[in-house]
Amino acid sequence: MTSSQSTTVAASNAGSAPSSPAPLFKQRAHDSLTNAKIQRAMRNFNLAGARARAVGEVENFEDLRTAAAAVRNRSLAMLDVWLERFEREATARGTHVHWAETHEDINRIVVEIAKRNAVKKIIKSKSMVSEESHLNDALEAQGVQVVETDLGEYIIQLSGETPSHIIAPAIHKNREDIADLFHQHHKTPRKTDISELTMEARKFLREHFLSADMGISGSNFLIAETGSTFIVTNEGNGRMTTTLPRVHVAITGVEKVLPTLEDAACIMRVLARSATGQSISNYVSINTGPKRAGDTDGPEENHVIIVDGGRTSMLGTDMQDALRCIRCGACMNHCPVYQNIGGHAYGWVYPGPIGSVLTPNYIGLEKALDLPNAATLCNQCGVVCPVRIPLPELMRKLREKQFERGLRPWQERLGLKLWSWAARRPGMYALLTKFAARMGRNMGGAEKAIHKLPGNGWTEGRDMPAPEGRTFRELYAARRR
Ligand code: SF4
Repeated sequence: MTSSQSTTVAASNAGSAPSSPAPLFKQRAHDSLTNAKIQRAMRNFNLAGARARAVGEVENFEDLRTAAAAVRNRSLAMLDVWLERFEREATARGTHVHWAETHEDINRIVVEIAKRNAVKKIIKSKSMVSEESHLNDALEAQGVQVVETDLGEYIIQLSGETPSHIIAPAIHKNREDIADLFHQHHKTPRKTDISELTMEARKFLREHFLSADMGISGSNFLIAETGSTFIVTNEGNGRMTTTLPRVHVAITGVEKVLPTLEDAACIMRVLARSATGQSISNYVSINTGPKRAGDTDGPEENHVIIVDGGRTSMLGTDMQDALRCIRCGACMNHCPVYQNIGGHAYGWVYPGPIGSVLTPNYIGLEKALDLPNAATLCNQCGVVCPVRIPLPELMRKLREKQFERGLRPWQERLGLKLWSWAARRPGMYALLTKFAARMGRNMGGAEKAIHKLPGNGWTEGRDMPAPEGRTFRELYAARRR
């Protein structure tokens, strides 16, 4: 990367991000909570248990977390240096390195590569960054067929939806849904046995693997010292996507570079354990350049697109810690909010606690107003994150930014100002809370439940337990007597 390119990347923002449906968060959350099928699927979803078992198998998992966080911090501290090194090493080995400042840039670069190579069909391994830019739509608008090959992504593509989890994209679908989809799209007899459904997908995808002109993958990491992409999958589709078609394009975020292969080995000790509860994933593919003379497999042309899309705007700010994310999904697997509402309620590519931090940073705080508030701040996410991202703290900071920029409703801002005024006057605070506790008790009546709080949506879907009538201070004073 030249220095001028570095500057351009560093100065860019996500101004071109697709418009976000995130303002509809409350409506979407409500829809999920009242959807019996989603609620059943979320109840059956338990990667938290698998993680706990896998973490328990190693004695020093907390040390591994600390080491992984240090590796990611080292990478972010000198991001420009490692990216330039990656570009140098990858170019020397025959890879074409592209820099995409915006989401439109991703689509433009991929469409150009596809056109230049007369591509008719593309197979895709999982790439969340391509979801950010709606790459499939851009390619299909040019008449190129795109087939997702990760099983979950394939199901989502057939149903015309977006992923609801970063590692389990079809988690909201049940076996009956998938049986209907395959029957409808494959024109085969309807079956509900999971092994048979998997074998059917495998058969159909095989044909696409063998006939595609181009493969698109994500890249969990970029390795600076070797100029390699580092891809972690459980289904082997990543390996076929990167080696079978004559052209391969890897798309990844600018923050995903790691200095060395040894650094990647350190991250791998926490990634699969945190994600799916495996000690290691089934496939780890390290791809370095196109096919060389004498190689039996590999693409004739190899491209890597390194995407900013709002990421560098977080560098050097109080949001930088979030760039350590290795997309394991553990934070959402342990989040009580995600566990109830599922991923689609978050309205953009990344759900759960990390989505509530990344989305406002990538596409703008004003387009994701509810997300930093979509958390109880219980810190389960912070406790399990393998790279020690302080997610609750980051969400609290985003709430502060919303308040400072006047992005919250005036009633909320006024309420907080009044509370802050009273909290700084202990005598006044004691008097007001005493009054509120008594009033709350009276409002609750014999049922001890408040059915309607004026100007507050909290009681629209449930009652609020009435206070007992005495404040904490009063109870504390009574116990000391
Ligand atoms: S924030 Fe942490 S727990 Fe959540 S996906 Fe990223 S690395 Fe995993």
